Amino acid sequence: MLDLFSIFSKGGIVLWCFQGTSEIFSPSVNALIRSVILQERSGNTTFNHNSLTLQYKLDNEFELVFVVAYQRILQLSYVDKFLNDVHLEFRDKYKNELQGGQHMGDFDFKACFDAALKGCEQWAKSQAKIPKQMRTFEDSQKSKKTVASMIERKGEEKGKKSVKIVEVKLTNGKPEEPEEDDSDVLAARAKLAQKLNKTKKEVKKSPKSPKVEKDRTKKPRVWELGGGARDLPELDFSTDKPEDSNIIADTHLVGRMTGAIRDLEVDSDESSSEEEEESAPSPKKTGGMFSIFKGLVGSKALSAEAMQPVLDKMRDHLITKNVAADIANKLCESVATKLEGKVLGTFDSVAKTIKATLTESLVQILSPRRRVDILRDAMHAKQEGRPYVMAFCGVNGVGKSTNLAKICFWLIENDMSVLIAACDTFRAGAVEQLRTHTRHLNALHPSQNHSRTMVQLYEKGYGKDAAGIAMEAIRYAADSKIDVVLIDTAGRMQDNEPLMRALAKLIKVNEPDMVLFVGEALVGNEAVDQLVKFNQALADHSSTANPHTIDGIVLTKFDTIDDKVGAAISMTYITGQPIVFVGTGQTYTDLKALNANAVVHALMK
Ligand code: GDP
Repeated sequence: MLDLFSIFSKGGIVLWCFQGTSEIFSPSVNALIRSVILQERSGNTTFNHNSLTLQYKLDNEFELVFVVAYQRILQLSYVDKFLNDVHLEFRDKYKNELQGGQHMGDFDFKACFDAALKGCEQWAKSQAKIPKQMRTFEDSQKSKKTVASMIERKGEEKGKKSVKIVEVKLTNGKPEEPEEDDSDVLAARAKLAQKLNKTKKEVKKSPKSPKVEKDRTKKPRVWELGGGARDLPELDFSTDKPEDSNIIADTHLVGRMTGAIRDLEVDSDESSSEEEEESAPSPKKTGGMFSIFKGLVGSKALSAEAMQPVLDKMRDHLITKNVAADIANKLCESVATKLEGKVLGTFDSVAKTIKATLTESLVQILSPRRRVDILRDAMHAKQEGRPYVMAFCGVNGVGKSTNLAKICFWLIENDMSVLIAACDTFRAGAVEQLRTHTRHLNALHPSQNHSRTMVQLYEKGYGKDAAGIAMEAIRYAADSKIDVVLIDTAGRMQDNEPLMRALAKLIKVNEPDMVLFVGEALVGNEAVDQLVKFNQALADHSSTANPHTIDGIVLTKFDTIDDKVGAAISMTYITGQPIVFVGTGQTYTDLKALNANAVVHALMK
């Protein structure tokens, strides 16, 4: 039994509605619109909300949404068919009104609706009566195998991989001379030997000759710094460096981070303007994303089959840009659902529509669903007489401490005093790294009139309970009227259950205002795995009905990925949470806000 059936325009006008019970469905339908239809997740046409299952179909020609709601415990096998039937019926009956855009009209649809529903219910009953039949032998894959293909012959490579095995007989450590005597070959060999001797001599002459055996121990990664950052001091204090009491403050950094964080600029090749793209592609151009759409020339109404090859290429393109494979699939499904049945005219409009749909979807995914204004929230907390608390989590080496220090710099630039809680009580050197940052940050912003130190470090050494240290730090900050507390937590692998449990405890006990997940922009599928498991662990181990999961993302090492910006999409898609900060280098000023349009531009190149 259906609880609700509704037809509404994408603009939000209800055209027709049937309600089977007196329940109020608007929260569920609103949730469907908010979390699925508007959030570019329309690839999957079933959505569960509270005790209800909602299933929907989009009519992209007339911009309509058909929604059915029923109790989640029911298994209604006819809903797909019913949605299709009723959709076609409604279109046929009211084609003229819909074409004329008279969406406000009074649609007398009850009789058709009842008939379609009855028909589908009867169809479902008749289907249930048909016993499930086994596949005949002719239908199976086995019938297609020949006996010969099943016999394994000795010496035959499985999978027919042609691997050439070149046998070289060694006599006294030297390869044996081949027996054949071909003068051409010998001449060529002599030439090669001469060449080799020459290069050997050249190598000897070179002062860089590797006489010393290569040191194979692991070296810390050296990041290349972009542009103006080259001459600035690096923030890598992860290794123990001698305590330098006389820190020389790089005062030219001071004052560059006041106000809201500046937007990220992604290198975009502006020469490929839309007009240029839509004209016949020039031979020089590689085409990028646009070349994918060429196959659609002349399409009238976009059908799933016509779009499939195009969508396959689009998915591959997204994967090459580092979008996680699963997410790329879902995005393509969503674009297909949005466009199927849309009637298009000329070549221009086909290309424009598909490109615009994908771009729109990507921008939508990257745009935060809620306002994130840390400075304002911190001011608000201050007015309430408490510190604003942010906790940083993530796996090891992604840049938690470094970016925490950058965020600290930005807060101080905006006249906020900060307490860093050293809750990574695990990794040797973690506390020292933060101590060094604290000294540098204070050197950059010496306290005016010595009334307050801008940054302090709350540390209790190693091996202690991190949740307890965070709690003490927050109490200390409240007593000392410190504006913001930044909690640095130990890096942990997403599969390490005891450590994930400890993190969940830290967050549950201390209730930070914001839990930030720090992740590298370098990773593709791995980023999604980390995020999903961190979120899941926070939910599972919190043992509360309303667990505090990840509120935002810090995307680090963005300066090292060129235009492979896909991790940004994967991370926001999977959590629905915004990228609050982007780390773009190793100086305190290398902190940016995400610019959805710039990232999407890089993604579509
Ligand atoms: P943690 O273990 O997560 O605390 O990681 P660290 O903060 O110690 O950082 C690990 C390495 O990444 C250090 O060498 C940092 O300098 C480097 N790093 C952090 N953020 C960035 C960034 O945005 N860009 C670049 N290029 N390097 C970064």
